[in-house]
Amino acid sequence: MVSMSGVQKHFGTHHVLKDIDLQIAPREVVVVVGPSGSGKSTLCRCINRLETISDGTISVDGVELPAEGKALAQLRAEVGMVFQSFNLFAHRTILDNVALAPITVLRQPKAEARRHAMELLERVGIADKAHQFPAQLSGGQQQRAAIARALAMKPKVMLFDEPTSALDPEMVSEVLDVMTDLAAEGMTMVVVTHEMGFARKAADRVIFMDDGRIVEQNSPAEFFDNASSPRAQAFLSKIL
Ligand code: ADP
Ligand code: MG
Repeated sequence: MVSMSGVQKHFGTHHVLKDIDLQIAPREVVVVVGPSGSGKSTLCRCINRLETISDGTISVDGVELPAEGKALAQLRAEVGMVFQSFNLFAHRTILDNVALAPITVLRQPKAEARRHAMELLERVGIADKAHQFPAQLSGGQQQRAAIARALAMKPKVMLFDEPTSALDPEMVSEVLDVMTDLAAEGMTMVVVTHEMGFARKAADRVIFMDDGRIVEQNSPAEFFDNASSPRAQAFLSKIL
């Protein structure tokens, strides 16, 4: 579903992604871990072309990502992204937040987009908030709205970049539960998170990044219990 081959990313003279080769199968859930600054966010941002890559190729569902233009907008719609900060439109209701892009980008009829948005809000457990504004919701509810908004584009892949890092502890599980359900339903997912309980339960594979490289990858059980590289061991000793 996602194929990265020989991907390099530079910011000026700073080499941030180094020779990334990564194949993600349909329905696969990949958790990405690694120290701050190791390139996890940049990896996600390259997969949906929020950043252009310096070299290599990335394809989604067999189609190579173009550098720019209308085809890019279409491909980007196939890759949903959820960030640490929820990025909801403050002056729109929750329902509008979810229905807006399908109407403007996918040209869905308004009634259909709103009906689908309502279904998604039900799925993430906040249908009762549909007519409220983001500031009226808790952080966990806002992040679930952000997930519904990404799903409204019917993406083939969902990227989550530390989706629970900005949440108060008591709200983390309600967001992880939605993500776990999504994984169980067969969504292809890339999840940057340090929530090891989620990784153990939902991930098919854990990827450890350090200094712009994929240093190690394995099943969650193998990775957490038997990490082989000293750098992964050092990282795990700090977070576990
Ligand atoms: P992580 O998400 O693992 O913490 P990032 O992908 O955010 O790491 O960052 C990787 C490296 O790239 C860091 O050294 C960071 O400072 C640098 N970086 C990220 N975004 C930019 C940018 N827009 N311009 C310059 N450097 C950047
Ligand atoms: Mg990051």
